[in-house]
Amino acid sequence: MSEIESRLLNLRERIAAACGRAGRDPYTVSLMGVSKNHPPTAVAEAVRGGLRLFGENRIQEAKAKIPGCATGLEWHFIGHLQSNKVRDAVDLFQFVQGVDTLDIAEALAKQAVKRDRTLAVLLEVNVSGEPSKFGWDPDRLLETLPALGRIPRLEFRGLMTIAPYAEDPELARPVFRRLRELRVRCSDVLGLPLPVLSMGMSSDMEVAIEEGSTLVRIGTALFGERPVPQ
Ligand SMILES: *Cc1c(COP(=O)(O)O)cnc(C)c1O
Repeated sequence: MSEIESRLLNLRERIAAACGRAGRDPYTVSLMGVSKNHPPTAVAEAVRGGLRLFGENRIQEAKAKIPGCATGLEWHFIGHLQSNKVRDAVDLFQFVQGVDTLDIAEALAKQAVKRDRTLAVLLEVNVSGEPSKFGWDPDRLLETLPALGRIPRLEFRGLMTIAPYAEDPELARPVFRRLRELRVRCSDVLGLPLPVLSMGMSSDMEVAIEEGSTLVRIGTALFGERPVPQ
């Protein structure tokens, strides 16, 4: 068994243990492999271990990598999307996590309409209000939701957030809790179920699961330290 496959087993155990503590069914938490800065060979090892869901945060890198990976995988864009990359994003990804402005939502919809398809999206929320982070301010999101909800071809599936990095994952708990509470309010405004809560990374996934995460985005704990891009 490769190192990546054994880390995958370990992650599944960590997810199951966190679900056990929270009284949740482990099948309600999806594990995403964040393969940024790692080659298609690393993705292939994770696929051998049974993983099907992957995330990338740079369009250029994804364009070079995804065609070299197995077919039939589910790829999510998890970064901040610039308007000049929207076309590529819709071609490469089934799902865009991280819709953070009305303009980007409209630009994605325009490309989806052109291709006569729908696109699943998550709305990224900057719960902690860190100036260095992208994402909606929670109040601004609630105000903008009616306009977002009128956009054709976008399927709003839920919310995503990145907690501030901290040595102690407990510090992320209030952020995850606020995202979970915000989901209920957004769901009421949109009149849609919004089943997905994308929160939790290598360092804070247990806390995120205890707070209701349905999708954890794992890079380092699966693929190892990220090599610095050339
Ligand atoms: C890099 C990245 C991750 C994974 O981070 P790790 O700490 O390596 O698990 C998750 N989500 C997003 C949006 C990322 O950019």
